[in-house]
Amino acid sequence: MTWQTDTEVGAERLSEVAGRVCYMSYGKGRKTNREFLGHIIEVGHGSVLEHGVWCFVVTGVSRSFTHELIRHRHFSYSQLSQRYVDESDSDFVEPDVIAADPELHRVWCDAVNATRIAYDRLVKGLETNLADMTDKTLRRKMARQAARSVLPNATETKIFFTGNARALRHFIELRGSEHAEVEIRKVAVAVLRIMQREAPNVFADYTLEPLPDGTFATRTAHPKV
Ligand SMILES: Cc1cc2nc3c(=O)[nH]c(=O)nc-3n(C[C@H](O)[C@H](O)[C@H](O)COP(=O)(O)OP(=O)(O)OC[C@H]3O[C@@H](n4cnc5c(N)ncnc54)[C@H](O)[C@@H]3O)c2cc1C
Repeated sequence: MTWQTDTEVGAERLSEVAGRVCYMSYGKGRKTNREFLGHIIEVGHGSVLEHGVWCFVVTGVSRSFTHELIRHRHFSYSQLSQRYVDESDSDFVEPDVIAADPELHRVWCDAVNATRIAYDRLVKGLETNLADMTDKTLRRKMARQAARSVLPNATETKIFFTGNARALRHFIELRGSEHAEVEIRKVAVAVLRIMQREAPNVFADYTLEPLPDGTFATRTAHPKV
């Protein structure tokens, strides 16, 4: 038996080989990688899409966003620690609908600035109260882990995550929907754009639909593969 795929994309090759092993199908009908993976997606044989994985680092996002992201249980995560890292210089991520209204923008700025001031005072006060503690790293960690309780969902964070194509498809479906929160929807759309370059045959069935607010929603005829 001789068979050669027509894609150079590693993850697409892996999924095609995995699928062809299942069916012992090496070239009769559905000869191209796109045809073969297209059929896999159509019939919902999603497990063969689990063999290729991608890593993403997302920065400039809020803790609201990461709280939603980490609900996706098939991704692996590493996130900036608020216990080890001082948050007194951290940024805050403002929702576009608030930023667009000057009065609401002021309300929002006042609120986040007040939490920053409270955070700084709490860290200083706690470090003073814990002055007897000889381990300085532990002392700082104990102060920051308690003081962070006043920081808002808007606090900027960074997260590294890894996921396979099947899990990424599911994330793009759920979080690219117009019903999803705007910040995570923007990330889902950005992830889709990257994946359509990285593995076009695995994400070929997705389209982007413009929404009235100028953002986009993702669409596919093959959900929950
Ligand atoms: C528009 C929107 C609104 C939302 N609102 C809320 C809300 O108000 N409150 C809230 O708590 N959450 C909310 N969520 C989050 C949602 O409930 C899910 O937790 C999140 O989208 C992760 O998706 P998932 O459950 O499909 O699981 P994932 O972790 O992404 O897993 C993918 C798939 O794997 C399978 N799977 C994973 N784990 C298990 C398991 N333990 N047992 C069986 N099958 C499993 C399921 O088929 C699942 O769909 C919302 C999500 C969206 C998109």
